Amino acid sequence: MQHILMQLPYEQIALEPYISAETVSYHYAKHHAGYVTKLNGLINETTYADKPLEYIVQNADGAIFNNAAQVYNHNFYWYGLSASPEFPSLELSDLIKREFGSMEEFKEKFFSTAVGLFGSGWVWLVVTKEGKLAIEQTSNADTPIRHGNIPLLTCDVWEHAYYIDRRNSRPDYLENWWKLVNWKFVSENLSKA
Ligand code: MN
Repeated sequence: MQHILMQLPYEQIALEPYISAETVSYHYAKHHAGYVTKLNGLINETTYADKPLEYIVQNADGAIFNNAAQVYNHNFYWYGLSASPEFPSLELSDLIKREFGSMEEFKEKFFSTAVGLFGSGWVWLVVTKEGKLAIEQTSNADTPIRHGNIPLLTCDVWEHAYYIDRRNSRPDYLENWWKLVNWKFVSENLSKA
């Protein structure tokens, strides 16, 4: 089974001015597509060849894990963005208030976790195994579904996500990314969790 690159649910230019079409073009059509191509090459003639993506992410190691998890994480990242973001559901905003105090305090904690992540990785809003909302950071390709947590939202903090638009400024990228968060997607993930 060949894995295929997901279709973006918007045009590459749709996220401007917050994320440029040039960034989306490199990030989606080069980096993300590259992980899909590498994954297909690596699983060929292995026991993972006919397995779904999530199974591979939860079971494989080494290069197969890295490429599968990067495909999974990038799928989640693109679905988590929208050119016309809506508001969080009442259920989600209540839980965010209960866990973090307010949406503003959640944002601050999410950003400080993202800025504090050394090197490449991902920052997530997850539902933990204990059923609580939490902010989780993962390094490189690592991903919450490997650890039994359910992801609701992710931000890619690899430099390739922001270097074209924001050079080395991860904080500037985060402020722009925040304006695009697809709260409908996040709320739907919560209601399924
Ligand atoms: Mn990326």
